[in-house]
Amino acid sequence: MKKIGFIGLGIMGHPMAKNLLKKGYPLIVFDLSGEAVSDVVSNGAEAAASVSEVVQAADTLITMLPNSPQVEDVALGSGGIADHAKPGTLLIDMSSIAPLAAQKIAAKLKEKGIRMMDAPVSGGEPKAIDGTLSIMCGGTAEDFAEAKPILDCLGASAVLVGGIGAGNITKLANQIIVAVNIAAVSEAFTLATKAGVDPQLVFEAIKGGLAGSTVMNAKVPMMLSGNAKPGFKVDLHIKDLTNAMDTAEAIDAPSILTQEALKMLQHLHDNGEGQSDHSAIAHFYEKLAGIEIRSKG
Ligand code: NAD
Repeated sequence: MKKIGFIGLGIMGHPMAKNLLKKGYPLIVFDLSGEAVSDVVSNGAEAAASVSEVVQAADTLITMLPNSPQVEDVALGSGGIADHAKPGTLLIDMSSIAPLAAQKIAAKLKEKGIRMMDAPVSGGEPKAIDGTLSIMCGGTAEDFAEAKPILDCLGASAVLVGGIGAGNITKLANQIIVAVNIAAVSEAFTLATKAGVDPQLVFEAIKGGLAGSTVMNAKVPMMLSGNAKPGFKVDLHIKDLTNAMDTAEAIDAPSILTQEALKMLQHLHDNGEGQSDHSAIAHFYEKLAGIEIRSKG
């Protein structure tokens, strides 16, 4: 089995790395946080002291980092992938980053004979733990075929949607739908609660109908119990919607709802909730309405 170098062991990368270990892949890992590294090492991974140590030891690389600047730094910065990877190495970047950044990084790596796919994911921490993520891939058909057995350890589906960058375009579409869906759920449950109807019963009544969604099932129980532990952080969603706005502007695509959802997330960030789960959009509505979305029962 190919030795995989895994860089970025946060909320998502940590369980993903563990799933690769469970399937028998030899793994060498690095994260800026030593705590994240030691837990994966206790599950059988080899620890590296730097990015360059991972890159030199691995045949295939996976990055799961916050945003474009971190991926660019690890890929192109000094001591990074471009400097140290063997020619022919495949980098699977599973972070959610700007599509243009993915294309730029891939082009620079290609000059060194290093291949890159963008393969961002959807499903959040629970699906990262279960190994049932949805993976949106951009790259060549050959690289996708090579990566597929690895991706199958991490996700329930991996779909090649186009060339490099197409994975992140698809992810931006996904993030628009999730943010606007959370905002719609928050607005609707605020209305019901303020009108005196028990939001728990509203959830029971509508979750199986056309308004039901994966977002509703995951986030309404959190809203009802006042739990905003991430999950997916407000600040990461601000990053995604900012990337979506920039992309929309570059290609002249309308982004009306994205802009409104971004304003709500920005408001939460400005009020100290940047590290809360994105379901905290409900707090934005609760404050405006002067109520809390809680069951009476
Ligand atoms: P996180 O902040 O929990 O983890 C990021 C990790 O990267 C941290 O452990 C950090 O120490 C490490 N890191 C940062 N810079 C580094 C560097 N230069 N070298 C080595 N390690 C470095 O974030 P996360 O929630 O795991 O998200 C990772 C990516 O996955 C993001 O792009 C996010 O948008 C995306 N994503 C997250 C979720 C979710 O629900 N959390 C769902 C889908 C996609």
